[in-house]
Amino acid sequence: MNLVLLGPPGAGKGTQAEVITQKRGLVQLSTGDMLREAVKAGTVIGEEASAIMKSGGLVPDEIVIKIVAERLSASDCANGFILDGFPRTLNQAAALDNLLQAQGKQLDAVAEIKVDDAVLIDRISGRYMCADCGASFHDTNHKPKVPGVCDRCGSTELIRRKDDNAETVRNRLMAYYRETSPLIGYYFAKDKLRSVDGMAPISEVSSQIEAVLANS
Ligand code: ADP
Ligand code: ZN
Repeated sequence: MNLVLLGPPGAGKGTQAEVITQKRGLVQLSTGDMLREAVKAGTVIGEEASAIMKSGGLVPDEIVIKIVAERLSASDCANGFILDGFPRTLNQAAALDNLLQAQGKQLDAVAEIKVDDAVLIDRISGRYMCADCGASFHDTNHKPKVPGVCDRCGSTELIRRKDDNAETVRNRLMAYYRETSPLIGYYFAKDKLRSVDGMAPISEVSSQIEAVLANS
């Protein structure tokens, strides 16, 4: 199963990718995570991406496409993957089509997670995650069972992303509407687009995505 999760920042792509990859034994490919790792490691790519990410803009296509191309050719992707945060531009979508075609693979579906704009800002401003395993939480919507302790791995290092603040969020939303939202039409035209209700509780959204997978 090869799936793309599409949706604005704060739609819950990362949360859902986490749930479904664990259940289905798929690989989660998050370009946001890969770029944050590059920034942390201080690589050339990380240095180029850091300021752009802090401001909420998009990292240049050639950089992200290169990262994804390398990652997709790894053997663990053979059993299926969930792309979360890629593609984000029409250029990236075309590059993905080519990459998959060259490997004799294809996308099974693109799940668009639909969320009202008004709640996105609140979701992102309240969000934090585990520094050790990446599990994500929220001040009000999704607290860990024990405060300050990661549900998944027990770590107590819970951190906030630098770009998860009200100001940067608006730039990220703008980038989404300008660059990424055309992908909805792109995948609709290819008959790959399936919409799920991202306003529903986390487990309900997961069930809807499971249903998409089951029917693709
Ligand atoms: P979110 O979906 O919550 O906005 P991500 O973790 O997916 O967050 O991405 C964080 C940042 O990383 C983006 O704002 C952007 O700067 C950069 N980024 C991630 N994926 C891509 C991509 N496919 N193309 C360009 N920039 C990207
Ligand atoms: Zn954890």
